[in-house]
Amino acid sequence: MNTVPILGIPVAQTTKSEFVPHVLNELLHTEHAITIVTANPEIIMLAKENYNYERLLKASSYVVADGIGVVIGAKMLGTPIAERIPGYELVHEFMNTAAPGHNRFFFYGAKPGVAQEAATKAKELYPQIDVVGVCDGYGNDGDGDEVAAKAAVSEPDFIFVATGAPKQEEWIALHKKKFPHTVMMGVGGSFDVLSGNVDRAPDIFIKLNLEWFHRLITQPTRAKRMLKIPQFLLAVNKAKKHL
Ligand code: UDP
Repeated sequence: MNTVPILGIPVAQTTKSEFVPHVLNELLHTEHAITIVTANPEIIMLAKENYNYERLLKASSYVVADGIGVVIGAKMLGTPIAERIPGYELVHEFMNTAAPGHNRFFFYGAKPGVAQEAATKAKELYPQIDVVGVCDGYGNDGDGDEVAAKAAVSEPDFIFVATGAPKQEEWIALHKKKFPHTVMMGVGGSFDVLSGNVDRAPDIFIKLNLEWFHRLITQPTRAKRMLKIPQFLLAVNKAKKHL
C-alpha cells in the first residue's frame, strides 16, 4: 500500500472502502500481527517528541489518517490523501464485515465496565461476531502482561485497544509477537462512544470535518491537548519550506 510521509511518519494513501477489505484479506494469510495506528496530529507530534514512539509508529503495519489535520497536512505537503479514516468507523467496519471464522474480537481499555458495555452493544449491532474477552484499561500491571496473556488465550482475530495514545500503541508493540494471526488497532475513546457513555459529534460536524471542534466544546478539558493541532500545522508548514 502506498504511503505519504508526514513529518517522517508514513501515512497510508488509501480510502476506508479500500483499506477494510485489504486488511480482512491480509488477515486470512498473515503469519504476524497486523498493527494499525489511527493517527491524528497529536499522535504525530508525540512521535516528534518521543523517538521510541516514532520508531514504533514506523514499525506498525499501517498508519491511517484519523484526524482531518493529518489530511490537511498531506495536502499542504503536495501529497494529498484521499480521505480521513476515523478509527471509530474502522471499529464498526471490521465488526460489520469480518469473515466467518475470523470474527473473534477482544476489547481492551476504557474505564471499568465500559468495555463490557461496548461489547454488549457490539453484539447487538453485529450478532455474527464473538466478543471473546474484555478488560478495562485501568489498574493493570505496568506492561499489561496479564491482559496480553488473557487475550492470547482467547485467540482473537481482532484486538481493539482503547487506552489512549501513546499507551495503546506501546502495548500493541510490546505484545504483538504473541498475536501472529491478529489485527491489533489502537482505538482511543471508541468504547466510550460505542457504549453510549459519550456522544459522537452529530453528522453535520463530521461532514464539515469539524469533529475536533465538537470535542473541544463538549470536552473543554481537552483544549490543552488540542493545541497540538496548530503546532502540527506549523511544523508541516516548516517542513514544506524545506522540501
Ligand atoms: N484510558 C484507559 N487507561 C488509561 C488512560 C485512558 O483505558 O490509563 C482510556 C480512557 O478511559 C478513554 C481512552 O483511554 O476511554 C482514551 O480516550 P481519548 O479520548 O483520550 O482518546 P482519543 O479518542 O482522543 O484517541
